[in-house]
Amino acid sequence: MNLHYTSTRSSDVKVTASQAILAGLAPDGGLFVPERIPSLDISLERLKEMSYQDTAYVVMRQFLSDFTEEELKDCIEKAYDCKFDSEEIAPLVRLGDTYYLELFHGATIAFKDMALSILPHLLTVSAKKNHVEKEIVILTATSGDTGKAAMAGFADVKGTRIIVFYPKNGVSKVQELQMVTQKGSNVDVVAIHGNFDDAQSGVKAMFEDKKLNGELASEGYQFSSANSINIGRLVPQIVYYVYAYAKLLKYGEIEAGEKIHVVVPTGNFGNILAAYYAKQMGVPIGKLVCASNRNKVLYDFFETGIYDKNREFVLTSSPSMDILISSNLERLIYIIAGEDAEKTKELMKELKAGGKYEITPDMREKLADFAAGYADEKQTAGSIRKNYEETGYVMDTHTAVASHVCDGFKEANGASKCMIASTASPYKFVQSVMGALGKGESDDELKLLTGLESISGVPMPQAVKDILNAKVLHRTECDADKMEETVKAILKI
Ligand SMILES: *Cc1c(COP(=O)(O)O)cnc(C)c1O
Repeated sequence: MNLHYTSTRSSDVKVTASQAILAGLAPDGGLFVPERIPSLDISLERLKEMSYQDTAYVVMRQFLSDFTEEELKDCIEKAYDCKFDSEEIAPLVRLGDTYYLELFHGATIAFKDMALSILPHLLTVSAKKNHVEKEIVILTATSGDTGKAAMAGFADVKGTRIIVFYPKNGVSKVQELQMVTQKGSNVDVVAIHGNFDDAQSGVKAMFEDKKLNGELASEGYQFSSANSINIGRLVPQIVYYVYAYAKLLKYGEIEAGEKIHVVVPTGNFGNILAAYYAKQMGVPIGKLVCASNRNKVLYDFFETGIYDKNREFVLTSSPSMDILISSNLERLIYIIAGEDAEKTKELMKELKAGGKYEITPDMREKLADFAAGYADEKQTAGSIRKNYEETGYVMDTHTAVASHVCDGFKEANGASKCMIASTASPYKFVQSVMGALGKGESDDELKLLTGLESISGVPMPQAVKDILNAKVLHRTECDADKMEETVKAILKI
């Protein structure tokens, strides 16, 4: 049976999965959501024995039901191959009774690779299925990790162009180097004078600008998005929660049906939403614990039912979570509003106008699956140090935020087994990580990287070695209100 997608802001929208992937955002500015979340149609007993690729197929086929078996398997094969430095793709590491699901073994050593290594293939298949002849222009705003992962995924993929915007002073040195050295004739990257929310709002405005879209069409271009609002990003992220649970069963770490809490370092709310979808599909997940850094707009939301982005924006050592508008939350709002598109639209209108909305008591009740916590800078660094001293394991700053929140959650709830989504390699945030370990005096990035290698005993990933000698290929910068002009200049229209 075909699963269709509708919009969080209008029940009139009804499209196939491939159409939703192509469009990125619904025509009314809402997000695409499946008409229903399918239940797993295969037992965890059987999933236990499956590879990552086979798990990906059985999970994704339920959401992307207009893809043929051959098309989907082909996308999966191209995505989850030797670009990953672990055959397991997403290996689990156990420290005490906490499991770290390492989602950083792909090309850019952060969890965005899990979805962005497959999205370009899903997108080109979708274009073919829908007879799209225009060149697809991917516009992406990034807080650091998405940009590089998207560029790596799309580089030289035929029929596509990609333009990435990042906040000039809001990403780590390694992140910036990764982006400005990216090769590929169809790749552009622009540093904007503003923060991530400025970049994201600018991209959203261009998607919604009918005049601009018309100009593009007449030049043979069509926008699409690689941001985590695309269901082609969300669906592949469900896979690793199903896979991880099945592997815990296989290794005898949990018993059949036993619930495990999942803690996710959260920014745009995509990763944790995928865990929620996995739970809805039937994976025995306990609480979904949303971990924030000092930009704790989500923590406050779960505590009070009020989403309020009117606050100081703080640059932290976990920059991929420095976000005040968590776009994917709209999908959860839609569900807790009883799939009421009108209600969701109204709240999002309030968010746009005043930066704030409050959900109803009814809606709050439906958030019982979630818990939330946050870590400040000191707690994040403390968590890196404590875990290292106790176990020898070195984690990155984002994972450390989750680890701190996990400790608090366990203490408050007497909970035991938790799984933490470990979202980046410590090499990616080496300055902060080494600083937390009391070894960050040097400004010399290379020295820090080799220092980390000897401390952690984990060899430097190839992705890091590559950028150390790479040439800077991109130097474009622009003001936050000049993004449209910049796109036109790049596309020569
Ligand atoms: C993107 C990112 C996050 C946040 O994930 P969301 O899906 O945006 O909530 C956390 N950690 C790292 C390292 C990331 O790159």
